[in-house]
Amino acid sequence: MKKGRDNVELVCSVAELGSLFTQTHSLDQFLDRVVDTVARHMRVPVCSIYLYDDDKQELVLRSTRGLSPESVGSVRLRIGEGITGTALKELRPIRECRASTNPNFKFFAGIGEEKYEAFLAVPIVRGLRKIGVLVVQHRACGYFDETDATALRAISSQLAGAIENTKLFLDLTDKAAPPAPKDKEHDLGTSLLIKGIPGSRGFACGQVAFYGILSREEGLLAAAQDGESDLTIGDFERALQETEKELETLQAAMERQALDLQASLIFNAHLLMLKDPSFSNPIRERIESGHPVGAAVLEVVSQFVSVFKSSANPRLREKVQDVNDLGHRLLRNLTPGHDEVHDYRRRIVVAGQLLPSDMLKISTQKAAGLIIAEGSFTAHISILARSLDIPLVVAKDSRLFQLSEREILLIDAGQGTIYVNPDKTVTDHYDSLAAARRQRPAQAFDSGAGSELHTADQVRIRVFANINLISEIALARELGAEGIGLYRSEFPFLVRNDFPQEEEQYRIYKKIIEEMEGRDVVFRTLDVGGDKMLSYFPTVNEANPFLGLRAIRFSLQYKEIFRQQLNALLRAGGDRENPPGIMFPMISSVDDFLQVRSIVGECREKLLAAGKIRDSRQPRLGIMIELPAAVELAGELARVADFLCLGTNDLVQYMLAADRTNPDISHYYAPHHPAVLRALHRVTAAARAEDTPLSICGEIANQANLVPFLIGIGIRDFSLDPHGIPHFREIVRELRAEQAEKDAARLLRLATLREVEKTLLA
Ligand code: PEP
Ligand code: MG
Repeated sequence: MKKGRDNVELVCSVAELGSLFTQTHSLDQFLDRVVDTVARHMRVPVCSIYLYDDDKQELVLRSTRGLSPESVGSVRLRIGEGITGTALKELRPIRECRASTNPNFKFFAGIGEEKYEAFLAVPIVRGLRKIGVLVVQHRACGYFDETDATALRAISSQLAGAIENTKLFLDLTDKAAPPAPKDKEHDLGTSLLIKGIPGSRGFACGQVAFYGILSREEGLLAAAQDGESDLTIGDFERALQETEKELETLQAAMERQALDLQASLIFNAHLLMLKDPSFSNPIRERIESGHPVGAAVLEVVSQFVSVFKSSANPRLREKVQDVNDLGHRLLRNLTPGHDEVHDYRRRIVVAGQLLPSDMLKISTQKAAGLIIAEGSFTAHISILARSLDIPLVVAKDSRLFQLSEREILLIDAGQGTIYVNPDKTVTDHYDSLAAARRQRPAQAFDSGAGSELHTADQVRIRVFANINLISEIALARELGAEGIGLYRSEFPFLVRNDFPQEEEQYRIYKKIIEEMEGRDVVFRTLDVGGDKMLSYFPTVNEANPFLGLRAIRFSLQYKEIFRQQLNALLRAGGDRENPPGIMFPMISSVDDFLQVRSIVGECREKLLAAGKIRDSRQPRLGIMIELPAAVELAGELARVADFLCLGTNDLVQYMLAADRTNPDISHYYAPHHPAVLRALHRVTAAARAEDTPLSICGEIANQANLVPFLIGIGIRDFSLDPHGIPHFREIVRELRAEQAEKDAARLLRLATLREVEKTLLA
């Protein structure tokens, strides 16, 4: 019996609705349109959407067709309550011929539900996040069949993303103000919500600025091209000098901020060009032959841009942004009455792709926040944003590039949301969050940060910090890090324009060891390649950089660079009471490690012979377990190495063949995948069997719902982003390791993602 319903058509039209969402300004209207469309196609008198309120842990009826309008906002169900609450709890569709006979049925007086006995509820979830429940009802008992359940499930999964956006926004406005009466729609004015991917943490609000685009500031361009302007060549010379001073100031500020970069002239491409007569002379010539000053600058900058853009040398192509930026500064300094502040100060910077050195430049200029089109939470550009403490959202949305520089953006980096021209409700909400944070900084969460960490049943857990820049060390110590579990040594290489030599590296490593005052420190050798290309190094053009010359493969290919780094590390740690560990990324075989170990041995012998180190102790050498091959060989690797470290950011990507930086397939990048969980367990068991110390340093340790599993399988040493430490400590203190072990054993028996999600969400 199909009663004339066309489920296929319904699925398609709802997909269209999903895309319509991105253009609508009214969220309630969007939900209303969903329930109307589903009701119309399924020929049902009642269709409703319940959204899950994470704070109150209850479902709230947010939109309905067929039930009384007063029920919206007032019908609330706890998880597991009623048929609807049970569908979300058990994460399965529930279909009833006669709803009132279901033991979970919950009667609500006055909403007009009693007439509709046939009931179908389908949970709306995204990954591990509960979003809500979609419900349809009909008078005729047994109206819904299996195909309806399948269709409604397909619809709910298609709509999950769009509904989640809606939910986030409604949650926000609900918290800031009482819910608006149903018949009055939220008036968002010209505001717009764009959903992206979280890149770091925090939130920020400011005017838009575009990175690497000459200028979108209408006033600036108009002034530049104004034939009537009375600017002279003297003004140009003055602007040139001001720009030079400005860049030198930025360079100094950057060095203060990032001590590991002291010898690097991050802004040198700008400065060199500025001082180069082949850049400034053509501008002078044009001015002298009668061109307006601004126009002369624009023309020459554009010429340089097109030469750089078409260069075969990738290093030159990367400089296009710098040239544009330079042009922008010159024009700004030519504009009468320009303000003294740097271009990106307090701005939300929108960019396509960013190099780490670009991000450093933007952060030095005190930008409030960043939006980039390419990336993900575990992409290294996001890791750097977290180190620099700059809010970052990843969003590929062409509307962002159509904004004018007068428009305001508010970004919430933790949620991955962008509000364009946010209304007062939104800004008030974030103002109050900011005020609360000022009163209670992250440090205050953990008054016992200095004490040893134990689970509730007294199992000792050690927590270390992942450090990318020296500037993070103080915070890591303050937040209770017992040492450094992962120092990503490539960051000083990445964010600068030139190769740090052995001496410079030595100074950086020594400083890190000194700042940690005898605590454990583990350095990881250079992990470049993949999404971390050195812009100044002649790189191969690889079709699959993550499968290419990356990490230890790069070091083994360029052994001189590797030896320089090892020498610097051995010298920095050589005479210490507690010498640092050195670990190697992307080891794929025992052979890799043996080769690396023998190179370390050679370096050590030479340093000893030259009297550069005196200590005869062997350094502790570790292996990062990041490849499926390393999981398979975990026992053998544990036997040859002094310690192992699980690098789950990569392990997940390589086990699941899901690029960690590609937002389009981020749903395949699932750290809770049963295969990943089993791999983690195998490695932990293998390390234990060999009595080899093991730690974990991937982002997985920041996922609150997976920490019990990790402790349950026996991991005791964790290394994470310093900002994540207070929350991690809180979770550990409340957890019982004995129970976690039993729960982990149960989780390891599950075969599907769905079952794992259901268990983790329960
Ligand atoms: C990892 O892969 O889990 C890791 C910690 O290293 P990175 O994120 O730098 O690749
Ligand atoms: Mg890695």
